[in-house]
Amino acid sequence: MFIFNLIFSIIKYGDDSVNTLKIIDLKVQVEDKVILDGFNLEIKSGETHVIMGPNGTGKSTLSKVIMGDTKYKILQGDILFNDESILSMTTDKRARLGLFLTMQSPITVEGVSNAEFLRVAVQGKEQKNFKLLQFVKDVESTSLKLNFSKDFIHRGLNEGFSGGERKKNEILQMYMLKPKIVILDEIDSGLDVDSLKIVGENVTEYKNKENCGLLVITHYQRLLDYIKPDFVHIMMNGKIVKSGSSSLVKYIEDNGYSEFEEKKQITGTCIVKDFLENE
Ligand code: ADP
Ligand code: MG
Repeated sequence: MFIFNLIFSIIKYGDDSVNTLKIIDLKVQVEDKVILDGFNLEIKSGETHVIMGPNGTGKSTLSKVIMGDTKYKILQGDILFNDESILSMTTDKRARLGLFLTMQSPITVEGVSNAEFLRVAVQGKEQKNFKLLQFVKDVESTSLKLNFSKDFIHRGLNEGFSGGERKKNEILQMYMLKPKIVILDEIDSGLDVDSLKIVGENVTEYKNKENCGLLVITHYQRLLDYIKPDFVHIMMNGKIVKSGSSSLVKYIEDNGYSEFEEKKQITGTCIVKDFLENE
């Protein structure tokens, strides 16, 4: 149900104001297991935050909890969008506020064409302002930028798409729906080098154009050659244990996560700035 809510979620256009997503002391449980435990993070328009962490540490859980997946039980803490709690909001309401998640494993919906899916979503968002001709033009030009073949827009949603095409399709949805805060959950997995470049460059272009806030979950530097992080956070056992600049990515690639295992949590952009100044 969550997936369908997410897929059919609709997002209204942003404005020039600064939008803030604030995650405060979040503790989350699924099936009797606490996954997130004291997670804190603040993301503002124009900022790019990267989260790295070992498998199973709760990165995808975090992204799904932000979008309102009801499988996850919030035990403690809050998630605020522009100072308003979103915890009681359904996924579609969160999406209308401007939150957008590219899924780690985008699903297939047979019988619903890519074009129809996008039209319903964008029309729902724009309501009376929706213009079919403009929509068609935008889909065509963005598809071209993403290097899609002409027929793909008329195929079933992700039907027969390769892993890379599914990820690029998520980026097409992002472009069309114009979110204010974008969460990319391992968008680089399954991408060949050319697709990685296309995805990375298009995400950066979108971010610069719309001034959105970006939360990038990744294991590798290679995506960050195209999406430049302002802050990098190491996540272990459901919380951030260290925050720093892009140099942390190289450090992790060289040294792994083991030394961060028992470190105390560092949270919030102020502490991030302190860290950067002391680096
Ligand atoms: P990551 O994305 O960091 O690799 P996940 O957030 O996917 O980690 O998973 C964190 C932990 O929570 C894992 O142990 C995973 O098995 C568990 N988990 C996540 N979602 C569920 C779920 N719906 N049911 C049971 N366990 C889950
Ligand atoms: Mg994951």
